[in-house]
Amino acid sequence: MRNLLWIASFLLVVIGAVYLLTGTDEPGPTADVPVVDATTVAPTLGLIDDARINNAESEPGNWLAHGRTFEEQRMSPLTQIDRATVAGLGLAWFKDMGTNRALESTPIIVDGRMYLTTTWSRVHVLDAVTGEEIWQYDPQVPREWGRRACCDVVNRGVAVYQGRVYVGSLDGRLISLDAATGKKVWEVDTIEDRDRFYTITGAPRVAKGKVFIGNGGAEFGVRGYVTAYDAATGELDWRFYTVPGDPSLPFENDAMEMAANTWSGDAWWQFGGGGTVWNSIVYDPDFNHVYLGVGNGSPWTREIRSAGKGDNLFLSSIVALDADTGAYQWHYQTTPGDNWDYTAVQDMALADLEVDGQMKKVLLQAPKNGFFYVLDRSDGKLLRANPFATVTWATHVDLTTGRPVENPALDYREKAQWVLPGPLGAHNWQAMAVDAQAGIAYIPAQDNPLIYGMSDEWKQTGLYKRNPGRMNLGLELGRIAQIFINNAADQPTVKGYLKAFDVLTGEDKWVVEFPHYWNGGVLATRGGLVFHGNALGMFVAYNSDTGEPLWDFNTFTSMLAPPISYQIDGTQYVSILTGTGGGDLFSGEPLDPVAKPASLVHSNTGRLLVFKLGGSEALPSPTIRDMTIPEQTLTPASDADIARGEVLYHDFCAPCHGLIARSGGVIADLRRMSEGSHENFNRIVLEGLLKDSGMASFSDALAVEDAQRIHRYVQARAHEDREVALGNQEAARLTWLQ
Ligand code: CA
Repeated sequence: MRNLLWIASFLLVVIGAVYLLTGTDEPGPTADVPVVDATTVAPTLGLIDDARINNAESEPGNWLAHGRTFEEQRMSPLTQIDRATVAGLGLAWFKDMGTNRALESTPIIVDGRMYLTTTWSRVHVLDAVTGEEIWQYDPQVPREWGRRACCDVVNRGVAVYQGRVYVGSLDGRLISLDAATGKKVWEVDTIEDRDRFYTITGAPRVAKGKVFIGNGGAEFGVRGYVTAYDAATGELDWRFYTVPGDPSLPFENDAMEMAANTWSGDAWWQFGGGGTVWNSIVYDPDFNHVYLGVGNGSPWTREIRSAGKGDNLFLSSIVALDADTGAYQWHYQTTPGDNWDYTAVQDMALADLEVDGQMKKVLLQAPKNGFFYVLDRSDGKLLRANPFATVTWATHVDLTTGRPVENPALDYREKAQWVLPGPLGAHNWQAMAVDAQAGIAYIPAQDNPLIYGMSDEWKQTGLYKRNPGRMNLGLELGRIAQIFINNAADQPTVKGYLKAFDVLTGEDKWVVEFPHYWNGGVLATRGGLVFHGNALGMFVAYNSDTGEPLWDFNTFTSMLAPPISYQIDGTQYVSILTGTGGGDLFSGEPLDPVAKPASLVHSNTGRLLVFKLGGSEALPSPTIRDMTIPEQTLTPASDADIARGEVLYHDFCAPCHGLIARSGGVIADLRRMSEGSHENFNRIVLEGLLKDSGMASFSDALAVEDAQRIHRYVQARAHEDREVALGNQEAARLTWLQ
């Protein structure tokens, strides 16, 4: 039947039942501490500065910055745990982080402490040896802000710098905390238009006395930008927009004037244009550049966004700025005229490589579009662009012009088309690791298509209306779901894999395949190992030369976060956070042949695991999730109401609760709602009864009758799946309809 494995990076929130975030809603103990005078703070811990990060190789036991160093290669120099000893690796300790939603953070390790973030932008600081909590900070994100996040209420980590800890909150604040105590030093609102659905999920980056932060929101319709703030005071130093704004207003700079010439029509600036920088921002001390990984367009489809014309700078681009002034230096656009949600926000790594006989300072990125880019950091010139996954939207990248050659057979304006990659990308934010000595990138990749197609309304009228407060993709999710169902037989193969990829030749050194596409980030070590957590719950160490698995540990929870390694008092540790979700919520429960993720089979336990040689701690016995669907008390409804409910469900609910009302195990499965949730359905959906759990009210967008239609559709789906599970194929097809 409906093998729904595609997805998108999408909106959040929705209809429904109670997903209780056990213990996640208590205020942090430092939340109400008054702001301290920035000039009087005398930090004694977390004294990281540019020189120290530049010299990170001299302190291999620490993990000082998001990607460990300014180069962000995620290659640990530590060797105590190696191919010979890894068999003795065991759990040293673990800590439940009080959430059952996705954990995506890369911890920072310095001064014996671990600084990490969890859901709702909370900061935890632990003793990195014992796991004892030293302080925590909760920015008290309004829970209804969850509806404004495309891809879960996640956070990818803090920056620690000059005695401070910096975190971006989901509701768009950049907050400076004293590293020793967790007391707030300053806080700024980075969002310039709070009527638009901006969010922050990415880790701030720090250098040159500044904190760099971007935002997300392109799915809803925003204009992307990155801001540099003075690290000491929070004063705004510079801001760089990634797409042009209202053409009736003056350009902010020459780069915006150049960019404006690549857009058409007038829809883009009303929608916002997109280009959000929600993940990767990298400082390059060699050139004093800051590189921005720029996201997709708002809306996705260029026909609507830009009258089908133009490259639409700086969407899907890597943009180099002067770190001191924010002035444009160069750009390289991976996907001119983005039409598929092909962000170039994926983690960028810097390296020195011999390319064609010459040493080059290069930038490496494996963005969503499936090509692995090697750029010259001095001028942005393209050196290599080989595919690292199955790519059908383009045949190749022309190294002379630097441009991809699109596949005209997959133009989806008239007829819907399966395209690889889909919106979850051939590679997403789950970080890769790079061994610059070997010229190898270890990439967590996937083949995960989407069928793209325009709505009937657009085809008939050419009109698309912006919906404030909703996703504005151009494609309509409700229609996409129906197109998908009608074309499921033609869906290309879905799979995930970890590969060792030669960044210059484009050849695979080795590939490990997984029966689920949505797996975790990667750590490489000089112990000759590659660490990786997957959707089936296995945390594995591979031989970096061969891909042979040398050690594994069953966490019973799916993983997205990248592992890290550190060493304190002569003992090397490897840590990882468990708990899946993120942009994959929309996919929901997979059907054959994609395997069910551990987080669905067991539970999506947000947990920090720390391993060392000889560790002997054990996890609690895993629970097995009850997959029974209760008998439904069916309310008579017409076919038309159910069909309308299906469209509305996919427009509003599916991004969190999953395609065709099948949750993947993170957010509540509406087929298993309690009687109480059924009775209170309209109060939940329209009155915000569960807003403190993140289920905001949709009364601004849904009428009472529409909420009821969604309810009927969910009941119909529950009935159908229950009857099929009981072997009653005939009874499944909604025979109770009037
Ligand atoms: Ca996107």
